[in-house]
Amino acid sequence: MQSLKYLYRYGMGPSSSHTIGPNDAARQFKAKNKEAKSYRVKLYGSLSLTGKGHLTDKAIISAFAPVSCEIIWCDKELSYHPNGMKLEALDGVGRVINEWTTFSVGGGELRDEGGVTTNEHPHLYSQKSMEEVLAWCNSSGRPIWQLVDEVEEDGFIEGYLADLWQKMQKSIDTGLKQEGVLHGGLKLPRKARDFMAQTRRLKDTEARTGLLSSYALAVAEENADGGFVVTAPTCGSCGILPSVLYYNFYEKGHSNRSILNAMATAGIIGNLVKENASISGAEVGCQGEVGVACAMAAGAAAQLLGGSSRQIEYAAEMALEHHLGLTCDPILGLVQIPCIERNAFAAVRAIACADYALLSDGRHLVSFDKVVKTMKKTGHDMLSLYRETSLGGLATSYFETQK
Ligand code: SF4
Repeated sequence: MQSLKYLYRYGMGPSSSHTIGPNDAARQFKAKNKEAKSYRVKLYGSLSLTGKGHLTDKAIISAFAPVSCEIIWCDKELSYHPNGMKLEALDGVGRVINEWTTFSVGGGELRDEGGVTTNEHPHLYSQKSMEEVLAWCNSSGRPIWQLVDEVEEDGFIEGYLADLWQKMQKSIDTGLKQEGVLHGGLKLPRKARDFMAQTRRLKDTEARTGLLSSYALAVAEENADGGFVVTAPTCGSCGILPSVLYYNFYEKGHSNRSILNAMATAGIIGNLVKENASISGAEVGCQGEVGVACAMAAGAAAQLLGGSSRQIEYAAEMALEHHLGLTCDPILGLVQIPCIERNAFAAVRAIACADYALLSDGRHLVSFDKVVKTMKKTGHDMLSLYRETSLGGLATSYFETQK
């Protein structure tokens, strides 16, 4: 597994695969082709079908600015991955002087055909599965988060993760203050601020649901409007882990260090899925985005509740298992419906999974590793209509009900 730096990234919403990845590709290509007089980018598959709603054109054009860039939307899919793009550098008379075909494979990562990761990052972790992580915990007598401390650069948790935790909090604080309507044709009103106001009147479990929902909505709405967020593990699912951490920090009184350690464990959970399956909605549907984010948050919450490594694994497994088959069918290609509300529900569910796991001794039949394999297979068995193309599911039935 690679460093958690390549799982947790900070960038422009609303989609790590549709904005952060293409923006990074454009920046890299521009740096290598400084002599170009203009650029042209052809977008394929899901990048083309939902790119307008996901602001892919804006992310690419801003990376090439002030040099001009033409965007060409090609609905056909390239064979390697659904999120393909071909970048071309042009001379003064419009001739192609260089080109690069690459794929945005999820979480902001780029990969060329044949599986070569652009700017290949070293695999720091020797563990390739949760079973190997748990074996390390058993043999060393240490909790999961300490693996991060041991493997990553010195001060990673107190430095890199602490900085992102600050950014997560800022997204919530900013999102809770916003009013008005989100960008795009749905004219969807922001809800986080109103939910928070209602929640102030509630008690106990209802208050917990209200708080978790308000925090998750705040981040997901910031993301939907093209704001800056932390991928956890993606932009579309960016509200779930921050919500659960924020709730535990401000409402349950956990220390800053405990939150960072929980974030480290959540990172291992997300990284294992990224390594062994996918965190791309275009590849495996929303189970790979919201399902994985819920698993990360459930594991983090179980750790904060004092759970053992086995209970943390159980909480994460349960969260992913009960999102199996979740489709990605955003209306109008916007990361709004079903995405925003789905973040709120998954944050509440993550805490429920942690509570449930803590009631048990951590023993259970379906392991996290097995559910990751199942998620990958389920995603590949899904029709492309349900993998971030906006050609099926809610994206089409919403308009049928309008007739
Ligand atoms: S439905 Fe899920 S995977 Fe699809 S864009 Fe929304 S959050 Fe991302």
